[in-house]
Amino acid sequence: MSDAKCPICGGSGWQVVVEGDYSFVRQCVCTISLRENRAESGLPERYSMCTFENFQVNPGGGKKNPTLMAARTVARDFAGKFPAVNTGLLISGPAGTGKTHLAAAILNTLINRNEHGILFQDFRELLQDIRSSYSPDSKVNEFGILAPVLNAGLLIIDDLGAERPTEWADSQFSYILNYRYNRLLPVIITTNYLDGGGRMEEESLSERVGVRMRSRLFEMCREVCIEADDYRKINTGQ
Ligand SMILES: [Zn+2]
Repeated sequence: MSDAKCPICGGSGWQVVVEGDYSFVRQCVCTISLRENRAESGLPERYSMCTFENFQVNPGGGKKNPTLMAARTVARDFAGKFPAVNTGLLISGPAGTGKTHLAAAILNTLINRNEHGILFQDFRELLQDIRSSYSPDSKVNEFGILAPVLNAGLLIIDDLGAERPTEWADSQFSYILNYRYNRLLPVIITTNYLDGGGRMEEESLSERVGVRMRSRLFEMCREVCIEADDYRKINTGQ
């Protein structure tokens, strides 16, 4: 439910409809638009309950992790200020540390505030959808898939760099990023790839998305680095 009271139902979510001598109760349009807005955001069901409150800053029940606390503060701040934001966020850190949770918490906060045009997009899936659109049987063309991604008021790209780096994938990414850069449209990116200072055996973000796109990203986004162990491994004792 939205924080602002709906003028029709006063926030109850139910609307009394009077037709002649009859009256009945139905779900208020505000709950329907919230539901539609949520569905249109593309956020997978798994992340629909992600909030800042249920974000784990002490994975595995141990000590609070300062980088997780800082990341939550920055993300919450971003959601609080949106749409009055100058930069997006680049949330990096190892797998399983809650990067997607934070991005989803931002999205859920904005949707509950009735912001429209917030889009969540797994990057591999986006590339797959674009590829499928090239097929002659496809009902949508490439632009039909890209248009919402290009123009969303806020675009969240989840798991950048997870796909195999190819020239084609790079060109798709730079097209999206440059388009949004020129129109001052913010992006939130989550990625497992750290820049430089990460673990030696791992590839850096520049190697995954190219040096030019990496610098563009750093121009467009505030960096949020999470340093923590995979809490899914902690929990299962692996
Ligand atoms: Zn209402």
